[in-house]
Amino acid sequence: MRSETVRKDVPPRVEPNLGDYEKVCAGFAWSQARARLQGLPDGRGLNIAHEAVDRHAASDHAAAVALRCVGRDDSVTCVTYGELARSTARFANVLQALGIGHGDRVATLLGRCPELYTVVLGTLKNTSVLCPLFSAFGPEPVAMRLTLSDTQVLVTTAELYRTKVAGQRERLAALRHVLIVGEGADELPGTVSLGALMDEAADTFTIPPTSPHDMALLHFTSGTTGTPKGAVHVHEAAVAHYTTALYALDLHADDVSWCTADPGWDIGMSYGIVAPLMHGVTVVVDEGDFDARRWYRILADQRVSVWYTAPTALRMLMRTTPRSRPYDLPRSFDLSALRFIASVGEPLDPEAVLWGRDVLGLPVHDNWWQTETGAIMIANFAAGEIRPGSMGRPLPGVEAAVLRCGEDGRAKRAEGRVTVVEEPGVEGELALRIGWPSMFRGYLHDEPRTAAAFAYDWYLTGDLVRRDTDGWYWFVGRADDVFKSAGQLVGPFEVESALMEHPAVAEAGVIGRPDPVAGSIVKAFVTLRPGFEATTQTRQELLAFARRRLGPAVAPREIAFNQHLPHTRSGRVMRRLLRARELGLPEGDISTLERAGSAQDTSEASA
Ligand code: AMP
Repeated sequence: MRSETVRKDVPPRVEPNLGDYEKVCAGFAWSQARARLQGLPDGRGLNIAHEAVDRHAASDHAAAVALRCVGRDDSVTCVTYGELARSTARFANVLQALGIGHGDRVATLLGRCPELYTVVLGTLKNTSVLCPLFSAFGPEPVAMRLTLSDTQVLVTTAELYRTKVAGQRERLAALRHVLIVGEGADELPGTVSLGALMDEAADTFTIPPTSPHDMALLHFTSGTTGTPKGAVHVHEAAVAHYTTALYALDLHADDVSWCTADPGWDIGMSYGIVAPLMHGVTVVVDEGDFDARRWYRILADQRVSVWYTAPTALRMLMRTTPRSRPYDLPRSFDLSALRFIASVGEPLDPEAVLWGRDVLGLPVHDNWWQTETGAIMIANFAAGEIRPGSMGRPLPGVEAAVLRCGEDGRAKRAEGRVTVVEEPGVEGELALRIGWPSMFRGYLHDEPRTAAAFAYDWYLTGDLVRRDTDGWYWFVGRADDVFKSAGQLVGPFEVESALMEHPAVAEAGVIGRPDPVAGSIVKAFVTLRPGFEATTQTRQELLAFARRRLGPAVAPREIAFNQHLPHTRSGRVMRRLLRARELGLPEGDISTLERAGSAQDTSEASA
C-alpha cells in the first residue's frame, strides 16, 4: 500500500457533489436517494427508461442533446432527449406488435451505433429485459448467452448475424425474431429489417406499470467453472445509477460525458447509457475503435467534461507519449473542457494517476465495482485527496468489509457466517452488506451459484483486498481463476471448453499471463490427444480455431503444449499452479495436487 496521496492543488472547476465525505455518508439513506427520481406518473412504479428519457422529454430539456454519436468517419449525429423519447417509443411499439412483452428477453449484438440506444431504452420502456452482448464475441459465446437467457428477440447487423448467429440458429430454440439494423435483411432468411418495422410504428408509448423489482437487465459474467452467469438486475438499480454518477463521477447538469466502455458490458450500459441520461447530460458515443489521436480529438472536439475510461486505455495512451516529450500529443488538442477523469475495471497503476495529473492536468480517479453490484461501490472522489493505487472508499449507502479467508482463498464460512476483519492491513475477501438498490437479484436459472455468492447478510465479491487505517481499499487480486484481459472479464472455463472441441485437444488449462498494456493476456496450456504433434502448425491451427469460435476478445493469444497438466485429486486442472509455474512464483498449497505436472514438458510459443 503506497501512502503517497495526490492532493488537488488546483480547486475543482465546479463544486463537487460530494464535498464532505464523512458528513454525506452519515446522513445518507437510499430511501432519500430514491426520492430524487421521478417515478412513473400516477404512482405506476419505477422504470429506468422513464428516468433516463421520458422525464426529460416531457420537460424543457426535450431539445437538449442526449446523444452525440461520432461515426467512424468522424461525422457527428446528435439525438435530442425528445427524439430519443420518440424513437424508443417506436421500438417499444415494434416489440408490442411482435407479441414481445413484460419480462421477455431482447438481446443486442451491435457496435456503438445510434440504434443501440433506441433498442436498449425501448426494451426497458416495454418492460422487457435487455441482454447486451459484446459484438467482439465469437459465435460460441454469443450462442451460449442467447440460449442461457432464453432470448426471443435479437437485434443485430447483417454482418454480425451472418458471421456469428446464422450458423447457430437451429440451436436457439427460444429465438423468435431477428431484427437487422441497416441494410441486408432481405438477403438473410429468418430476419426482418428493424428500419421497416420502426417506420410503421407509432412514436408515442405509455410505459406500463413497472415494479422496481421487475427484471430490467441481464448481464453475463464469467465464473471459474461452468457456463457464464446471467446476473439479473431490476429497475430499482436506477436509484444507484443516479446516485453513484452524482457522487463518484461528479456529474453536473451541463456535463458532456464520455464512457469509453462498450455497452455490451455492465460499465458501458450503466455509465455510458443509463446513469448519464438520468442526469440529463450529453452522452458522447464513439463508433470507432481505440486510436490515441482519435480519442484526444473526441475529448477536444466534443468538449468532453467527464471522462470515464479504463486502465488498459490509459496505458495505451501513455505508450503513445514518449517519456522525453510526454506532453506533445495531448497538448496539441484543446482539452480545456475536461474537468474529471475516472477509471474502472482493473487495477489502476499509480503511474497512470500521476500521468493524468502531469500530462492531462487532471489526476485519474480509480473506482471499483463489478457486474453483480450494478453500480460503482468504492471510489476516489472529486473532493479531497486521491490515493494512487487505491480503489478508494465506499460510496455513501455502501457498507464494505474485508472478510477473513480460509485455505481455499475465499471468505471462510462457519455455519453460514463469515468473520469481518476489523484490523487494517489484513488481506481478505471484499464483501458488501446486502441492500443497495443495484445489487443483482441472482444468477438466472442458477440457484446454487446465487446462494454461493452470499453469506449471512453479505455479498461476497470474489476479490481480495486490504483496507488501510483510514478506510481506503486496496485491490490485491482475484480469489478465483477469472481474470481481466484488456478490461474484459475472462472465464477460463469458457475458453478451455472451446479449445476442447478441437479434435487435437485432450485437455486445456487457461490462465491470465500478465501483460504491460492489457493487464493480462489469455494463455492456454493444452494437452494433445495421441496422434497429434506439438508443432507450430498445430499451435497456429488451435489459435485460429479458438479465435473463430470465441472471437478476439477472449480467444487465447498464446498456447503452450503440456502433456502433464497439474490436477487436483478431484481431476480439475490446477490453474493456480499453472500460473505460479508460468510466472516463477511459489507454488503455494499443493496438498490437493493429484500428480505433479512437469514444467519441462511445456513447449512454449506465442502468436
Ligand atoms: P466485471 O464484472 O466484468 O465488471 O468485472 C469486475 C471485476 O473487475 C472486479 O471483481 C475486479 O476483479 C475487477 N475490477 C473492477 N474495478 C477494479 C479496480 N478499480 N481495481 C481493480 N480491479 C477492478
